[in-house]
Amino acid sequence: NEQHGIRNVAIIAHVDHGKTTLVDELLKQSGAFRENQAVTERIMDSNDLERERGITILSKNTSVTYNNVKINIVDTPGHADFGGEVERVLKMVNGVVLVVDAFEGSMPQTKFVLKNALDLKLPVVVCINKTDRPDARVQEVTEEVLELFLELEAPLEHLDSPFIYASAKAGTASESPDNGGVNFAPLFEAIINHIPAPTGDASAPFKMLISTIDYNDYVGRIGIGKIETGTIPVGTDAIIVNMHDPDKKDKVKISKLYVFNSLSRVEVKEASFGEIAALTGIDDIKIGDTVCDILDVTPLQFSKISEPTISINFIVNDSPFAGKEGRFVTGRQLRDRLFKELNTDVGLQIEETAEADAYKVSGRGELHLSILIENMRREGYEFQVSKPEVRFKESDGKTLEPMEMLTIDVPAEFSGLVIEKLGARRGELVMMSEARFGYSRLKFHIPSRSLIGYRTEFLTDTRGNGIMNAIFDGYEPYKGVITTRTFGSLVAFEDGTATSYGIYNAQERGSLFLSAGVNVYAGMVVGKSSRNEDVSVNVCKRKQLTNMRAAGSDDSLKISPPLQLSLEQALEFISNDELLEVTPKDFRIRKKILD
Ligand code: GDP
Repeated sequence: NEQHGIRNVAIIAHVDHGKTTLVDELLKQSGAFRENQAVTERIMDSNDLERERGITILSKNTSVTYNNVKINIVDTPGHADFGGEVERVLKMVNGVVLVVDAFEGSMPQTKFVLKNALDLKLPVVVCINKTDRPDARVQEVTEEVLELFLELEAPLEHLDSPFIYASAKAGTASESPDNGGVNFAPLFEAIINHIPAPTGDASAPFKMLISTIDYNDYVGRIGIGKIETGTIPVGTDAIIVNMHDPDKKDKVKISKLYVFNSLSRVEVKEASFGEIAALTGIDDIKIGDTVCDILDVTPLQFSKISEPTISINFIVNDSPFAGKEGRFVTGRQLRDRLFKELNTDVGLQIEETAEADAYKVSGRGELHLSILIENMRREGYEFQVSKPEVRFKESDGKTLEPMEMLTIDVPAEFSGLVIEKLGARRGELVMMSEARFGYSRLKFHIPSRSLIGYRTEFLTDTRGNGIMNAIFDGYEPYKGVITTRTFGSLVAFEDGTATSYGIYNAQERGSLFLSAGVNVYAGMVVGKSSRNEDVSVNVCKRKQLTNMRAAGSDDSLKISPPLQLSLEQALEFISNDELLEVTPKDFRIRKKILD
């Protein structure tokens, strides 16, 4: 059976390419607003962090109706580290709209999501947006997208994907690159005609797969997903099962059921297969759960959520230097905020520790945890975090460590450098493809540990053109210390008056001297040593000079104004006896205070 009146689509867009404006316009032109009524709530608006990092972190839902067809729109996270999340979202839809800025062209971050969509054989509507820009490169960007399809080995029919040329700002779209069009009808038509309606067995017992969890303080956990078969009537009994948890068999009553309708969720009495729905009132509903009719309780297929591999301790800021800048600084506030995160983030784990007001938070990789840290910082929290550590396991008296299968796509000219850097981090190159369209694909089997701090380095090394994506690849015996950088002993001054430094190389225990090209970042110096190694040194207050062993060097330092060190860089630079103090204003590395 086919659900003619529904289309489920995902939007793939690089941040700032105009997704929010486009969805607002779809809403407006579908009659979701009465005339002259402004769009007051931009539901798909990205948060500041998403904008800065150029990636979508959260996924959101909405819907529009055009010519009696309801189009459910889901947003896709745009980053490889959220690989599992991307797959879950794409499994709800029957096609995607790829939004590309007519000047900027396709971006590496959207390529990964598009690849996932193509692997799932989803049809694509390409929307070249911002065609009104005076610097628009409409023809070139069209060719770039076609090349991207070839590069991603898309099935040939994708070369016939509809291209729509739009100005979301002006509310116009056209099938032709040469005329602007008068409204958004061509985009609506392309979606409705090119993306198939969802199918499912209408008469089978109902089944719904939970793909996202939302949360709000009033109703608690909200389970969102697509109904695969049948019709769910409110008031019915249901059983919740999960293919990865054979013991789960919770009996629940469906008390409140919602579907998405333009800007809001509307309560309905029933919803049928093909529809994306939301359920409230089921306290411990989880991603991957199947909500079933009592007549058939076999769970739906669902790819397992990866195990957390990295932990960071979150600790109350008890530093005497505590800036008192945060609005939320107490242990209670820290705890509540962390546990609240568990409601919506399935990949996260939180454990209490032996110390008061310290929580061990574990997640999928450093990016995952650093996004939590940054979000909390922006919300006004002040706290400290410890050095990221991988989660080891003990088995038969052996220590095991998590490994990753790391897939890297880089412009071919950078592959040598990447192989060298990952070799030093004990990455084993297991596959290297021939360069296609200037890009090489490399696969490494590598300890999770080695990836801590690597992302920033990788982006610098590849000038932002590389994509990396790691998936958990089992446990292996621990192979000993990996030193990836040179540690600094102290030195340089916040007033910018330092002259020389002694630092040592942790591997060789030898002295090195900082040379030219050194920058002072928030609380530290980062630069190249005279042996051309990457080094970092904590910045001290002038008065601490007497305690330092000043090493003789003639190099005079040029200290540029403080720059913000990226959080990932800072996390890598913390040593075991240090903590990173995170405040809404900045973050800096401190020595641990010992009682
Ligand atoms: P998102 O991050 O993808 O959701 O992007 P937004 O919708 O927030 O748009 C990013 C910026 O691009 C905003 O300043 C928009 O006003 C602008 N923008 C969006 N669509 C268009 C368009 O069609 N033409 C022009 N010139 N600017 C646009």
